[in-house]
Amino acid sequence: MSGLGKGITAASVGRILKNRGYWVTAVKIDPYLNIDAGTMNPAQHGEVFVLKDGGEVDLDLGNYERFLDIELTSPHNITTGKVYRSVIEKERRGDFLGETVQIIPHITDRIKWCIKNAAEEPFPNGTTADVCLVEVGGTVGDIESMPFLEAIRQMRGELPPHDYVLIHVTLIPEDTMGDLKTKPTQHSVKALRELGLHADIIVGRSEHPISANTKRKISAFCDLPQNAVISAATVPDIYEVPMEMEKEGLADVLTAHLGLGKKEIDTAWYRVVTKEYTNRITVAIVTKYGIEDVYISIKEALKHAGRALSTEVKIAWLDAERYERSQLADYDGILIPGGFGKRGIEGKIEAIKLAREKKIPFLGLCLGFQLATIEYARNKAGIADATSEEFGEGTHVIAILPEQEGLTHLGGTMRLGDYVADIRDGTSARNLYGKESIVERHRHRFEVNPKYIPDLESAGLVFSATNKNRMECLELPGHPFFFATQFHPEFKSRPTNPSPPYLGFVEACRMNKRTK
Ligand code: GLN
Repeated sequence: MSGLGKGITAASVGRILKNRGYWVTAVKIDPYLNIDAGTMNPAQHGEVFVLKDGGEVDLDLGNYERFLDIELTSPHNITTGKVYRSVIEKERRGDFLGETVQIIPHITDRIKWCIKNAAEEPFPNGTTADVCLVEVGGTVGDIESMPFLEAIRQMRGELPPHDYVLIHVTLIPEDTMGDLKTKPTQHSVKALRELGLHADIIVGRSEHPISANTKRKISAFCDLPQNAVISAATVPDIYEVPMEMEKEGLADVLTAHLGLGKKEIDTAWYRVVTKEYTNRITVAIVTKYGIEDVYISIKEALKHAGRALSTEVKIAWLDAERYERSQLADYDGILIPGGFGKRGIEGKIEAIKLAREKKIPFLGLCLGFQLATIEYARNKAGIADATSEEFGEGTHVIAILPEQEGLTHLGGTMRLGDYVADIRDGTSARNLYGKESIVERHRHRFEVNPKYIPDLESAGLVFSATNKNRMECLELPGHPFFFATQFHPEFKSRPTNPSPPYLGFVEACRMNKRTK
């Protein structure tokens, strides 16, 4: 079922193998009909993660990138929409030569092709993966996941015996007496069997660790050895999951199944992700959605920077439409994340104004960058009715650039994925990144309107990184930390390689707290 932690489990399995020197890649299967997550409401599905090639994908790909320290591409997120579209296009071209086109074999063949195609995509150094994780979203028994489960059933027979292992993640609930119940696991294993699938390893998700007795029961009912039943109890931080599974002996079971030799484990990653905290800060994030899943990458990027600086980052989620203005100055820093649409923007602009005037560290991301520009235009550059073309009438200091006009299709005008930004010398951006030019991921439609840049700059705002006529970073000299990016640096943040703007922000929050 959803929300169980299949993504984190898959990512952790990958990390365990990676710590032994294996190259690991990952594929996420989402059985919905959407072609990609780009058009999906984040309040329902969580964050839309953006890949370097501009793919707008399920948030689990973010977990894979962070846990495995890799960069994935769009083919690594397979959806029913993508599979059917390609099969139907082939049919229209007449490529099936009069055959009846059916779910089995045409859709299942295409699914297998998509998995193999993604698995074989080389890493930038030319190496291909030793292991590809394939996470099948949804629940066993769902109508829409049937073709995918059938495809992975067929793959078992087609691959050499040691090239396939099936891990089943199940919920082990507690009854009112606090006893762990294995019944749901027995039933889902039975449902799998009906589809011809046999679980080689069972990962049992529970609130508290699973006892040897419970494991024995699962082992007996589900036809697998006891050491193939892995307890995955809830832990305070997701980065502890691989370590916990390591303790459960998952590595031995996995490598035995996959015929991989025993290799020395490198524990460096474990040490970095569990570094002790010696400080604590609280950051206010002013948002439209009160749902944390929408901002996973931001949360994780703050955590990565925090670990590196031994600082625990607590987050206060403030509703842009009704937060208590007087309390804002109590936080150690203010962050305005990305977003679409008009709702809540005035509350966010007020928060930015307060951060600017009261010298509270501020980090603005994408929409946050655009709103910082609007706030400055209104209150410092004398453009009282400054706004974005996205929000309606007014002076459009944020607008669709002339070269984008005419593209009316919603997805058509979006600037997605990796773009270079050139950083101006002598700026905070240059200090943070320590480089003249960077590559970061984007997901936006509107830009700073070049017409108003002279006014904004002569009023003191500095656009410290640019891509031709597009503004990529802004900052305010003389403020302890007032920094915003048109791109989303959180997508490239890794536990072992925190994102520079986040590092700068967390450090500034820490200083702010100390001097308060
Ligand atoms: N809505 C803004 C735009 O389309 C910002 C997008 C974002 O924050 N990801 O440009």
